[in-house]
Amino acid sequence: MIPVKGFAGKQVAVLGLGRSGLVAARALREGGAVPICWDDNPAAREAAEGEGFTCRDLLKQGAFEEVAALIVSPGIPHLYPKPNLVVAAAQEAGVPVDNDIGLFFRSFATRDWDRFDSMPRVVAVTGSNGKSTTAALIHHILTEGGRNSQLAGNIGRGVLDIEPGSDGSVVVLELSSYQTDLARALTPDVAVFTNLSPDHLDRHGGMGGYFAAKRRLFAEGGPDRAVIGIDEPEGAYLAGQLAEGPTDDRVIRVSVARKLTGPGWQVFAKKGFLSEYRKGRQAGSIDLRQIRGLPGVHNHQNACAAYAACRALGLAPREIEKAMHSFPGLPHRSQIIAEVDGITYVNDSKATNVDSAAKALQAFGNIRWICGGLEKEGGLEALNGVMGAVAKAYVIGREAAGFAMQLDVESEVCTSMATAVERAMAEAQEGETVLLAPAAASFDQYDNFEQRGEDFTAQVLARL
Ligand code: ADP
Repeated sequence: MIPVKGFAGKQVAVLGLGRSGLVAARALREGGAVPICWDDNPAAREAAEGEGFTCRDLLKQGAFEEVAALIVSPGIPHLYPKPNLVVAAAQEAGVPVDNDIGLFFRSFATRDWDRFDSMPRVVAVTGSNGKSTTAALIHHILTEGGRNSQLAGNIGRGVLDIEPGSDGSVVVLELSSYQTDLARALTPDVAVFTNLSPDHLDRHGGMGGYFAAKRRLFAEGGPDRAVIGIDEPEGAYLAGQLAEGPTDDRVIRVSVARKLTGPGWQVFAKKGFLSEYRKGRQAGSIDLRQIRGLPGVHNHQNACAAYAACRALGLAPREIEKAMHSFPGLPHRSQIIAEVDGITYVNDSKATNVDSAAKALQAFGNIRWICGGLEKEGGLEALNGVMGAVAKAYVIGREAAGFAMQLDVESEVCTSMATAVERAMAEAQEGETVLLAPAAASFDQYDNFEQRGEDFTAQVLARL
């Protein structure tokens, strides 16, 4: 646990008592603060009270008197589509609003660090897609290389739940736009921006707000090194804005769209080969085609970003390459679940938006594509340019018919996963891939994308 600094003897309100909220309350108490907890859900309040925390309705008149800060969980809107009433009340009372990430950055460094030979370092990963894969890959490479690494944030443990920093240790954080938008302190040593495509636009008031939220990771204090995917205009703009000039190697540019061989520091992948260039010279290369846990160009982008972050931490190219070979990949992300009779079955349930699904459609050939669910803002048009490898779509979800109508490819309205898997398997030929890549959220039929991926996996395995 990381005891929270700066609030000893003070009351700190905690709104939202899920995983991160409860951990925040514990870490505040550990640091000597008095957490005042609230959640609309009575069961969550009961759990907090069971741990000895005080709960108080933060909407009551005067609830913020004597309160030093409000800590908000990422699922609670602080501005768009409209501010949560408790957040608005705190702001009205002049109480600073923060989250567990802000508390972490203000509390992580301690006096003990003076005795260390090598300071603990924090790597933070953000972006629209590939955050979890990139963060998990960095953690895997560090661990395989014998470094003490902890994975936390959106993936792994709650950020305040980890062990305090030790000599030479690294914390790898995955940060969503909700988290970077609200945190009052954001001071990683290495920050990574994977890519940008529309997602969660309702929570950020549009694309500009979404980019601004992610950009804060690079602007509030500034990391020593910034690894930035420059294949979209926003990433290219951010890299340009942070660099002092063409040779400034605090920015490591990443691309999977073109060769980057300028005088600065850059990592790119072309035709399955990763190359690192620094000061105009090649400094490392890896044949990514041989790495089973990272299929497709989108994963090559993640590999480049993870490689760059690990190079920024001082690892050697060969050490990184060796560890990449043993990366198992993450469940529900381009995960090969079976290969039977020449047919490959892939679970990419995490493809909850159009861009990630498009990437999956380009990573495999001859696809029986299971898609559909709760459609996100922005429509499905972007998919129509990338369906060349799709033999047929099998559409699930409560609005399957409406979803199917927007696709520029032969489709069948299946509604349920069971029907979709049955139909796709009945029609799949040798050499084809049955791919779940929904391009939609899962909440119309499932609690979350994990449950959807598990259903797909179970339905496939039951029929093999
Ligand atoms: P995040 O944590 O940002 O949601 P994940 O690593 O969990 O990212 O991957 C989310 C989805 O996006 C998966 O469907 C995955 O296959 C796909 N994906 C992974 N990396 C990328 C990338 N670099 N670009 C686009 N899509 C990606």
